[in-house]
Amino acid sequence: MAEQRRDQRGERDAREGGQGVPEGWGRGVSAEEAQAWEALVATARRTVADGLVVGTSGNVSVRVGDTVLVTPSGLPYDRLTPDDVTGVDLDGRQVLGTLVPTSELPMHLAVYRTTDARAVVHTHAVHATAVSTLVPELPAIHYMAGALGGPVRVAPYAAYGTDELAENMLHALADRTACLLQNHGTTAYGTTLDQAYDRTAQLEWMCRLWLTASSVPGLSPTLLSPEQLAEAGEKLRGYGQRR
Ligand SMILES: [Zn+2]
Repeated sequence: MAEQRRDQRGERDAREGGQGVPEGWGRGVSAEEAQAWEALVATARRTVADGLVVGTSGNVSVRVGDTVLVTPSGLPYDRLTPDDVTGVDLDGRQVLGTLVPTSELPMHLAVYRTTDARAVVHTHAVHATAVSTLVPELPAIHYMAGALGGPVRVAPYAAYGTDELAENMLHALADRTACLLQNHGTTAYGTTLDQAYDRTAQLEWMCRLWLTASSVPGLSPTLLSPEQLAEAGEKLRGYGQRR
């Protein structure tokens, strides 16, 4: 992948008569975008450090104005530098950088087009992905589901990177801020990278909790009623420092 990047830059430098512009094609990177990129890379590295992602199997994006900064395809997060800013517009046209954006770009853009999201985190977290193969909805095992808008749905399987997967995900995300993707992973969004990350981590934790509780032979976990989840959701909306 590093070779791919160098080749791309070489071609561009040749096109521009050797006057390489570090910011890539399109236009320069604004101070706000540079800062957002730094936060995006930190969040992406955190998904690996916390075990939500193995290798390059997840992706992260953040919206700055009408530009979406997104992790490049197939590059380990520890190799990303401030010069690697990769950005597209809301139609997916690359406006920043020369690296190829994540193959899951259609999913990220679908979220930004239809919600107030400013950040999206996609992972293949192991417990969440396991649950996605067992049920069409995560059973209401804990009141924290209220923080995600209610019981977390599983989007039916479609091949990665396709518009069909993005569409299935949007249906599963209706009135929710996170969902599972069948035999694939998780998608969560928020108004900040931290919020999208926290929702992903909460979802993975709840999936682990349900798998743990439902694996005791001869016993099955109690579940919360829709009323109990709604009540928790109300309380959580007023909790802490968030809006
Ligand atoms: Zn994926």
